Amino acid sequence: MTPPLATERVLSTLNQDGSRHWIHPRLAQGRFLRGRKIVGYALIAMFLALPFVHIGGRPALLLDVLTQELSVFGAVFKASDGVLLMLLGLTIVVAVFLVTALFGRVWCGWGCPQTVYLEHVFRPIERWLEGSPSQRRKLDASSRPHGRRVLKWVIYAALSFVLSNVFLAYFVGVDRLALWVLHSPLQHPGGFMVVAGVAALMLFDFGYFREQTCIVACPYGRLQSVLLDRQSLIIGYDQRRGEPRAKPKKHLPVIGERGDCIDCSACVAVCPTGIDIREGLQMECIGCAQCIDACDAVMDRVGKPRNLIGYTSQDELAGKPRRLLRARTIIYPVLLAAIAGLFVWSLGGRVTSNVLVERSQGPSFVELPDGTISAQARIRIANDTDGDRSYVVDLSRAPDAKLRTPQLTWQLHPGKSLSIPLFVDVPRASFVLGKRTIHLRIQDDLGFARVLVVTLLGPEGSAR
Ligand code: SF4
Ligand code: SF4
Repeated sequence: MTPPLATERVLSTLNQDGSRHWIHPRLAQGRFLRGRKIVGYALIAMFLALPFVHIGGRPALLLDVLTQELSVFGAVFKASDGVLLMLLGLTIVVAVFLVTALFGRVWCGWGCPQTVYLEHVFRPIERWLEGSPSQRRKLDASSRPHGRRVLKWVIYAALSFVLSNVFLAYFVGVDRLALWVLHSPLQHPGGFMVVAGVAALMLFDFGYFREQTCIVACPYGRLQSVLLDRQSLIIGYDQRRGEPRAKPKKHLPVIGERGDCIDCSACVAVCPTGIDIREGLQMECIGCAQCIDACDAVMDRVGKPRNLIGYTSQDELAGKPRRLLRARTIIYPVLLAAIAGLFVWSLGGRVTSNVLVERSQGPSFVELPDGTISAQARIRIANDTDGDRSYVVDLSRAPDAKLRTPQLTWQLHPGKSLSIPLFVDVPRASFVLGKRTIHLRIQDDLGFARVLVVTLLGPEGSAR
């Protein structure tokens, strides 16, 4: 049965009958493509190198899902750093709001991995192997598999496998990943399944799903209507200059006023999301600036000034001046400074070790032959830093007391804790109603110091 046809405008990635409309954009050379290539390849190089970069002995960027730790350029956050992680997340969210209010979808067009890898890696391979958009459409229409298309998928699969490995290195670290990849899948079936699953997702996204990720799946793309205001930077078509559009007709006199747009559709042919920017700001526009490069080349050819399509704002297109200061560009920076400041302040005051008094086991005290009371205490030290620490425990402000410990210093590995039994010799007369308070000072070798108040139980006492 033939499906019914939509009577209204459908997504640019769909045909009127609901089937997929494959977009094969032409490539427009120009100043923005050059700039985007420089940014894109620099980002790819950074993405490939960062897992191997270490700062202070730790990966520069690692969200370790197994140990539940986040390393960011030397700083380490644990799952217990809930407030810090929340502040870090809020800082990123408000920064995204601010950048979008100022520069619109510049991230989508210039820095998003979806655009960077699709436009600068996967699509160039496709153009190289399958030729121009019309040649690719012929291949689409052909019912038998073509050698060049098969080769394209083989290269795509290999690339997806490599990229998925690098991607996973940000979550499990390069050492663990090397174990998974370099050994038989039978030795690490779980790890191998993860690598294969991520590679399959990448292959599906860059090979098949493509621009639909931006249009229907990406939450950032869906939020554009609320993140942008009329002053935000967008890519727009200057209707006042371009309309009424008309194709130039040879040998025919020009009748009436004509705009600068010659209705050549070059801007539509290069659009990777298949839209016509002349219809105004649309959610599908990812700000890739291909239509600017295409139209600039047309304007150069017909001897008209560039920028019929260009970076602008909705207000500017309506003939109003640009304003940098507006509610969003004042509130967001203030909010950002406050949250980022709170984050830095909390980071500076973060506790690196945890110490607490534990209930002691066995008899609370013994009386020594000279009549002195040897009372038992127990403390626990936890090393919450990312390096080995050496701890010393001594008495503070207790000249009549003597501390006896099994050893003088305690070494603790990162994330480890230790329960330490202590004996404090104090005169029998210093107990009041069976209790005596002492102060224990715990220090590590990197400046951490904490004084714990410990109540000793002695003669006539039974509860702490
Ligand atoms: S490329 Fe420029 S001249 Fe050609 S249709 Fe688009 S806006 Fe008009
Ligand atoms: S309308 Fe222009 S800027 Fe927007 S996605 Fe299409 S080509 Fe890129």
